[in-house]
Amino acid sequence: MNYFFQSIKGMHDYLPEQTILWNKIEDIFKKILHNYGYCEIKLPILEKTILFKASIGEMTDIIGKEMYSFHDKNNLSITLRPEATTSCVRSIIQNKLIYHKKQKLWYYGPMFRYERPQKGRYRQFYQFGLETFGFFELDIEFELIILVNKFWKALGISRFLTLEINSIGLLSERNAYQMELRNFLKTYESYLDNICIRQLNKNPLRILDSKNKNIQKILLKAPNLIDFVNTKSRLRFEKLCNLLSNFNIPYTINYKLIRGLDYYNDTVFEWKTNYIGSQNAICAGGRYDTLVKRLLGPDTPAAGLAIGMDRLILLIQSLNLFSQKNIETDIHIFFSNKSIKNRAIFLSEEIRNEFPKLKILLEFQSKKINTIFKNIKKYFTKIILFIQSENIIYLYDVICKKNQIINSNNINIMIKNIFNFYTK
Ligand code: ATP
Ligand code: MG
Repeated sequence: MNYFFQSIKGMHDYLPEQTILWNKIEDIFKKILHNYGYCEIKLPILEKTILFKASIGEMTDIIGKEMYSFHDKNNLSITLRPEATTSCVRSIIQNKLIYHKKQKLWYYGPMFRYERPQKGRYRQFYQFGLETFGFFELDIEFELIILVNKFWKALGISRFLTLEINSIGLLSERNAYQMELRNFLKTYESYLDNICIRQLNKNPLRILDSKNKNIQKILLKAPNLIDFVNTKSRLRFEKLCNLLSNFNIPYTINYKLIRGLDYYNDTVFEWKTNYIGSQNAICAGGRYDTLVKRLLGPDTPAAGLAIGMDRLILLIQSLNLFSQKNIETDIHIFFSNKSIKNRAIFLSEEIRNEFPKLKILLEFQSKKINTIFKNIKKYFTKIILFIQSENIIYLYDVICKKNQIINSNNINIMIKNIFNFYTK
């Protein structure tokens, strides 16, 4: 094994067994998104660094230490996107998608953050994101929550996730709260760990996320952001809680839930799980009513969320919800000797044309029937076709363990019958 040429730390390959699962999840999401009137937007992976600085906030972890920024040949500072809400807002302003129009958009793709790699936290990771523009009422937050719950239900993972919500008011209110929190934590400085001490001056709100049990204990006595939040925002939050309760949507209020990006306001939410270790947030989002204006667009209410696909995959895999079926081959075609290879190619093409949805493999080298049967478990195949000679073809139904000689004229009818039988 050559250890010299390895992928960059925190950046992974996703291999075929996993990509099958990714595609399945994507298909499920896309169908539900269409159902709710969302359209896809494709955005560049690189943007000007000043764009992210303007939107995410100078004091955040992302801007402070996680950006992949460098200069291009024209000496322009550019950055591999750490998230895509910013690009999405830039795009809708630039392309005039929001003047007197509402928008429901989704995107999917890799994000880059220079973080400390660990299980569930990578330097290249994938987000499936939803962004909505022009919806002022809280109905949109509610609809986003219902929609994401539909995703979980369709994947069969609802019971492994909990929804946490909070209202974080305005940035100015968070700044006032931040000062109070800092003063409170300073009285406990000797009990804080090194990470918290570093965060205390720079960004004390991050301490609320601390996984350290002692710090969590201290935080129980800390002031709560909700007490600094304006009445309008609190009323809105109350209404959202009532709506969720009326529709029997389970949720927990977490007054310590604060997003790591500056642009959020009022409602924020996160889905967490206990099944993938400490990096447990699978999906996060909220309102960001000031961002469009901050990026010099028209005053436009907005709300959105992002699902961390890598963590979602970890969860599905840890629950063993992914069955072997997904990598099965429907038909595997073999032939007995070189002289009938062309015949085998011809037949495979005919079968593929007739059954475009089935997965059909043709073995390019001739094989002995005995070796095929010895390795049958390796192929995860439903039907084996063995072309013995021009006219003698064996069809072996692996599931029913039935072998028969068939005529090349009725191959398609035989296959149809077998697959009809399985799908009934
Ligand atoms: P965290 O608190 O886990 O760092 P965050 O607040 O930075 O998350 P967001 O920027 O809101 O997260 O991203 C939304 C989702 O994207 C997260 O809930 C998570 O599932 C996923 N995510 C964020 N950073 C990473 C990463 N470095 N590796 C893998 N997934 C990530
Ligand atoms: Mg983060």
